[in-house]
Amino acid sequence: MRKKIVAGNWKMNLDYTDGLSLFSEVINMVKDEVTGDQQAVVCSPFIHLHSLAQMAKGYHKVAVGAQNAHQAESGAYTGEISTKMIASVGAQYVILGHSERRQYFGETNELLAKKTDMALKNQLKPIFCIGETLEERQAEKHFDVIKQQLVEGVFHLEAVDFDKLVLAYEPVWAIGTGVTASAEQAQEIHAFIRKEIAEKYDQTVADGITILYGGSCNPKNAAELFAKEDIDGGLIGGASLKSRDFVDILKTFN
Ligand code: PEP
Repeated sequence: MRKKIVAGNWKMNLDYTDGLSLFSEVINMVKDEVTGDQQAVVCSPFIHLHSLAQMAKGYHKVAVGAQNAHQAESGAYTGEISTKMIASVGAQYVILGHSERRQYFGETNELLAKKTDMALKNQLKPIFCIGETLEERQAEKHFDVIKQQLVEGVFHLEAVDFDKLVLAYEPVWAIGTGVTASAEQAQEIHAFIRKEIAEKYDQTVADGITILYGGSCNPKNAAELFAKEDIDGGLIGGASLKSRDFVDILKTFN
């Protein structure tokens, strides 16, 4: 059985106090209402990480992650945060390659491959995001784009590294737009990703990796998406800022 995960991406939202309140609501709801083995991963701004990790300590159904990290171990990179620092406060995950980082900060597959290596070296599990733009889909290049992101971003890894990797398929046209990929469109890409992994590594690696769908996922559409064979959960932006919505999405796996 693959691990089921619903990860929240708070992006650059919530001050320190509001972040702690939201997280506290999430933990309490998860404790009261989540009956399955699914895990919530809350990816907050850096300022919250230590406190959230303390609040979640010893409770395996809720984990904490960052939204980015630097590719170097340490050094003269003013303003940056290393994977080791993130791990040192108790965070377990890091989102890498979110389309906003690719678009606004020029992050390339090559750079993301280095960030992935550094995250794994420091015991952080990457949630590695891939996905095509609307233009790429309209030009029917989406399979090529996804394949290139996989090949350049994660296919240099050893098979054993895939135990610690999570992939997130996030069509850029569905992020924050209210337009969700249909469950069929998402499943088609998830199955393609798994096929590519099976061809590069083997079927066991492909069958074992958790692949999340992200893009305007909400409590209303989560059940249909998560019912698909190759969709193992979601990466949730907007709806992760409301405890009720986020936990309701998580409860799809109850
Ligand atoms: C995201 O930012 O990863 C995301 C999926 O956002 P939203 O759910 O708001 O579309």
